[in-house]
Amino acid sequence: GCTAERVAEALRAVARVVAEHRDELVRLDREIGDGDHGENLNRGFAAVVSKLDAEVPATPGAVLKLAATTLISTVGGAAGPLYGTGFLRAAAAVGDAGELDAAAVAGALRAALEGVVARGKAVVGDKTMVDALTPAVGAASAAVAGGDVAGVLDAAAEAAERGAESTVPLVARKGRASYLGERAVGHLDPGARSTSLLLRALAGSAR
Ligand code: ADP
Ligand code: MG
Ligand code: MG
Repeated sequence: GCTAERVAEALRAVARVVAEHRDELVRLDREIGDGDHGENLNRGFAAVVSKLDAEVPATPGAVLKLAATTLISTVGGAAGPLYGTGFLRAAAAVGDAGELDAAAVAGALRAALEGVVARGKAVVGDKTMVDALTPAVGAASAAVAGGDVAGVLDAAAEAAERGAESTVPLVARKGRASYLGERAVGHLDPGARSTSLLLRALAGSAR
């Protein structure tokens, strides 16, 4: 199972990957947004790491909740409240369990998606992070039977990467990119890309 310490380690891995891809996310958001997505997320996950350096909370749920409140107060933009809500719902879904198994991880991902959708009202095809997270949740659920946490997260990451790529030919219907109409076509959505990076980092950390 996945302990609080492992979840904290996974969030540190996310922070490293976000820092490595900061400029890529800035570039993607410059193409169809205002160019701050990489900076916003990097600031947020760096703040999460600072909090974890001070103290790792006792349960996986408490670690996820700390990440949620930190992201909500530091990321800003559209993505801050959306990722924050996702982590908050994931925290609520795992409750006060001391360890997370594959089913709990898949359930947390599903709860995160429901939170993002409740908050942002995007559906698949709107060219947002929902286009990466929705197939990830389906793949994660399908991988639970006979799979471990790493297998579930690998399946989620793989599906999220394909989901993110699927945003390229789309017109955006939510967020700043929606102001561009046809001019958003041919560009990868930055939030979908960051979601796929986040899941890949979690998967790598679980191995
Ligand atoms: P902002 O556009 O406010 O500067 P960010 O650059 O941090 O915010 O995040 C932009 C990303 O947020 C988009 O690429 C998209 O994936 C996501 N996004 C924007 N609006 C929504 C929404 N209503 N639902 C889901 N995701 C959204
Ligand atoms: Mg932006
Ligand atoms: Mg902005």
